[in-house]
Amino acid sequence: MRSQDHDRLYLSPPHLGRHELNYVHKAIEDNWVAPVGPNLDGFEADICAAVGIPFCVALNSGTAALHLGLLLLGVGPGDEVLCPSFTFVATASAVRYCGAAPVFVDSEYDTWNICPQRLREAIEDRLRRGKKPKALLLVHLYGMPAKVPEVLALAAEFDIPVLEDAAEALGSCWEGQPLGSFGRVGVFSFNGNKILTTSGGGALVAHDRALAERARFLATQAKDDAPHYQHAEVGYNYRLSNILAGIGRGQMELLADRVKRRREIFAWYREHLAALPGLAVGPAEPPGARANRWLTTVLLAPPAPDAAPAPPPEALRRALEAHNIESRPLWKPMHLQPLFADAPMYGGAVCTDLFARGLCLPSGTAMTEADLRRVAGALREAFG
Ligand SMILES: *Cc1c(COP(=O)(O)O)cnc(C)c1O
Repeated sequence: MRSQDHDRLYLSPPHLGRHELNYVHKAIEDNWVAPVGPNLDGFEADICAAVGIPFCVALNSGTAALHLGLLLLGVGPGDEVLCPSFTFVATASAVRYCGAAPVFVDSEYDTWNICPQRLREAIEDRLRRGKKPKALLLVHLYGMPAKVPEVLALAAEFDIPVLEDAAEALGSCWEGQPLGSFGRVGVFSFNGNKILTTSGGGALVAHDRALAERARFLATQAKDDAPHYQHAEVGYNYRLSNILAGIGRGQMELLADRVKRRREIFAWYREHLAALPGLAVGPAEPPGARANRWLTTVLLAPPAPDAAPAPPPEALRRALEAHNIESRPLWKPMHLQPLFADAPMYGGAVCTDLFARGLCLPSGTAMTEADLRRVAGALREAFG
């Protein structure tokens, strides 16, 4: 990230408050310069309080949290794991880390997340083929809650444990309950582009103490309880540093404020871009959903004979780039990635269409009204 380029509007740059440095300073002063210490304990307690869940293990990335989460659910070589195709690659890569295979499922237009109907088809078909999926990855893309009750009902009906990938959804809720707290295990990311950041970091949350303890064990080289270095299974070096956890503590103080501001930015775009033909800011929140609006996303209408055509997303992206404004296509679906060319896919038309027509706009919480006007102005110009 070219932080010296003050004129550039980034998609979602880090936005630090005033207390992060105090926590970092204290860690250095007290020599807690290790993957253990008071900031880690404090950061984990803050996440537990925010998510309403009793156990949390802070890790060095969301990807590490996904990997451990799958291991906690017993995913291993030869297993299949249900996963939306429309997600960031880390969700599906974690399945491969375990030696397991992702089974991809299409999205629905309502939330852009996993389609419950396609999910049922996928589960029933995998069962017919003789293998029960070992776990289900429930992703809430761009902070929009997936259809939580429908997906949880299916998981319960077929007795498949849910791992919630809430990497983009810290602070989002379904009927007042924070996302990340619905699965057996939940995962958050504190990467530099997320709604809160530790520069790089992640967290795993669980309702069950034994699961959280196992995550902590696996994250610290699976060292057995002995005075010497005794190991009976493969572990990982996945713990977060106490220094970075200090940044996290400062950031967690700001969660409510940051969600409020992301939602304001989304609402601003929706209002001020309403006149652009064929451009829709969305998706809208279904009843029960409260999205953190991590990134404001737009969909461009497909070319229609009776309407003025909207510019394709790539033309808009280049037009914004000409104004030194960063925008990005939506995540490219996993079933279209060479990496997963041989993976089974149920449906696919919806997420392929979303990918072809969507764009993410700058949504950082430090954006000013003038910044927002700059984006809107550049978009208007591109529409001619
Ligand atoms: C960011 C992200 C991750 C990975 O988190 P890292 O902290 O970057 O490893 C996983 N899943 C989704 C949906 C994400 O957006």
